[in-house]
Amino acid sequence: MRLNEFDMIGENVNALSDNLQQQNFQIQMQDERLSLMVDSMILGVLLIESDRRITLANPAVYHILSIDESVISKTFTSVLTSFRLIQMIEKSFKDRVPLNEEIYLYHPKEMVLDVNVIFVDDHDNDEMNEQVIVLIYDITDIRRLEKIRTDFIANASHELKTPVTALQGFSETLLEGAIDDKDTAIEFVKIMNKESKRLNQLIADILDLAKIEQDQVGHHLEPIDLQMAVDEVVQQVQMEADKKGIHLSTVNAVGSEIIFNSEKGLLNQIITNLVNNAINYTDEKGNVTIVIDDLENNVQIQVIDTGIGIPEDDLPRIFERFYRVSKSRSTSSGGTGLGLSIVRNIVQSLGGRIDVMSQLNEGSEFRVLLPKNTEE
Ligand code: ADP
Repeated sequence: MRLNEFDMIGENVNALSDNLQQQNFQIQMQDERLSLMVDSMILGVLLIESDRRITLANPAVYHILSIDESVISKTFTSVLTSFRLIQMIEKSFKDRVPLNEEIYLYHPKEMVLDVNVIFVDDHDNDEMNEQVIVLIYDITDIRRLEKIRTDFIANASHELKTPVTALQGFSETLLEGAIDDKDTAIEFVKIMNKESKRLNQLIADILDLAKIEQDQVGHHLEPIDLQMAVDEVVQQVQMEADKKGIHLSTVNAVGSEIIFNSEKGLLNQIITNLVNNAINYTDEKGNVTIVIDDLENNVQIQVIDTGIGIPEDDLPRIFERFYRVSKSRSTSSGGTGLGLSIVRNIVQSLGGRIDVMSQLNEGSEFRVLLPKNTEE
């Protein structure tokens, strides 16, 4: 072989080696990208080999199944606790098929998971090269929201039916002849009037809730004088309070103007709802006091009454839609059970919070904190 032939072979070997190096580098890059992608997915991923050992798992699956890196190289049956999930993986290996199912977990917490099990076949029927990829999507929140929605529709339909049935019943009785007896007719029409007002209130409340939830309330913040906002509500409800001989008063804890940025209409709705409740659920001659305060980043509004109070067992639920402590105590006041859930929704949409303290037969205190938004 001549010298230049050696050179040529040498050059070819060098080029080949460069090429290989480059390919290696590219494979390594792709590997890194792939593992970065798997690691940052919200989808839980498990890779299980034919010997039933887990060879890959991502942070999402650790979080969803409350497991950790120690599961790597262990058999899936020894680390997974969901019987259904284990069954799915086994079935996929056995029948060499992909599977999709919604499964429920009860431990360590209740969860609904959408599980996809994918059987990976290498086509040469070598069992040793078979793998199963498990993809887990946590759909607990989606299912919870769906349930809230269907419960809401069921409750709303039920609540709307009550006044409608009353209106139908009384109007039919009137048409069947009761209209000729003037006293009965007047009594029935009064009931119909009350029920139609209730219906109207219900529809208005439901629309309010829908509007707040769809976040249709654009936040047009404007400077508000809290004392003036409270005075406006007091003016609106004073007559109601007077009728029951209830003493309605306002206290400014700082003694100077409290100015902050918020949405006037929504603030009015919060205070009106709370003060109306305080008047409704306070017996004759009681007291309703509104205390306003200026805290560092928030303003505070307390509505305190000396009314009938709320039983301890009901306290955690009073902000739920349609929840009423007892039907009798609020239907006599025309309540829909939506007032407080509307208030809580508004408060939260304004970035604030609401708390309640109450003692049965002693009174209740609702406390609202709203951000001042002064820095904006
Ligand atoms: P409602 O329209 O029935 O008043 P809300 O959502 O406003 O509905 O209130 C839920 C329940 O909480 C009411 O049924 C009532 O029993 C109770 N509640 C609300 N505010 C007060 C209060 N200030 N004092 C006593 N009970 C109250």
